Amino acid sequence: MIYADNAATTKMSDAAYNRMTELMRDTYGNPSSLYSVGQKAKEVLEEAREDVASVINANPREIYFTSGGSEADNQAIRSAAVLGAKKGKKHIISTAFEHHAVLHTLRALEKEGFEVTLLDVHEDGLVRPNELKEAIRDDTALVTVMYANNEIGTVQPIREIGKICRDKGVLFHTDAVQAIGHIPIDVEADNIDMLSASGHKFKGPKGAGFLYVKKGIRLTNLIEGGAQERGKRAGTENVPAISAMALALKDAVANMDSNAKSIVKKRDRLIQGLGEIEHSALNGDASLRLPGNVNYCFEGIEGESLLLLLDDKGIMASSGSACTSGSLDPSHVLLAIGRVHDVAHGSLRLSINEETSDEDVEYIIKSVKEVVEYLRGFSPIWRDLQSGKKAFIL
Ligand SMILES: *Cc1c(COP(=O)(O)O)cnc(C)c1O
Repeated sequence: MIYADNAATTKMSDAAYNRMTELMRDTYGNPSSLYSVGQKAKEVLEEAREDVASVINANPREIYFTSGGSEADNQAIRSAAVLGAKKGKKHIISTAFEHHAVLHTLRALEKEGFEVTLLDVHEDGLVRPNELKEAIRDDTALVTVMYANNEIGTVQPIREIGKICRDKGVLFHTDAVQAIGHIPIDVEADNIDMLSASGHKFKGPKGAGFLYVKKGIRLTNLIEGGAQERGKRAGTENVPAISAMALALKDAVANMDSNAKSIVKKRDRLIQGLGEIEHSALNGDASLRLPGNVNYCFEGIEGESLLLLLDDKGIMASSGSACTSGSLDPSHVLLAIGRVHDVAHGSLRLSINEETSDEDVEYIIKSVKEVVEYLRGFSPIWRDLQSGKKAFIL
């Protein structure tokens, strides 16, 4: 079996798994309790905060643990909206290909009277900083642009975007869930005010993430209750998961450079090999993308059938299309970069990591070639394309 869907979630590292299970068994105290097993849990929690902070060049007091990326996105954007509204600023800038945790929060805010501008991400899957500059208004409360896209892997010019926001005095949030642990991030150098992260995208557990909030920015509570997380996120902390996440992140960053080198080589071999399939196209810029991300469109096929047949061959991948989650709409990300519906339906996302071997890569290329050819063999769209009744787009 080849797991090539690390952008959806990762298998926990052995170290994170061991840390989590040991803490669940032995360090069961409530961090708010005064006796020793509670205080031990508190220590573990604060150590995790220090570790996470140091990885992104932040202060531990700027880290708020959450249940994951979605919660962090919601809390960051809602907080910025509340702060903006107080000053009469009700305009938010984002992009058309954000994760739904961002897009749906923005949609909810629109219903509450906010105005949202979504920047174009162009064919290469990249935001143009000068277009952001032009979109910023006097009443702009927040700019939220993802660090790297979860479907096509493109890495945005975050430092430049952050600089523009800083110069204009606008808050800048980035959903860094796909990027952190995979490419270097420094909240100071990158001019980031708020950043979302999630443990299960870098070999930590599901259900643990964090929000970085620069000192001086006031968070709004999503969850009311006790005084945990400086009163900003109530609920007894999931200490085992938080600690395992911090460990997974430290390990990911420690091994990042060496891992990235080997992963990029395999990624580029996949891009080249799959490019040999006729009427196919890589989605997103070929080099300004995450080390492990490959996303292709193949004309004349359905992504879902491709996935099912690859699964039969022992390859676990994703179409990057919402079809897999029960909707027939093609991916909003692929539409945002200008792919038409028919083409967007025939997409494949492979997200590999350092455990993907060279043999795996060759097997994936061979299998995708076979399956695409097989599916085209009885695709009515492919027949129309072949006969000239329909024009090829790719
Ligand atoms: C996975 C993901 C999320 C959601 O994170 P959860 O921890 O699953 O809530 C948000 N944004 C991006 C870009 C993601 O890839």
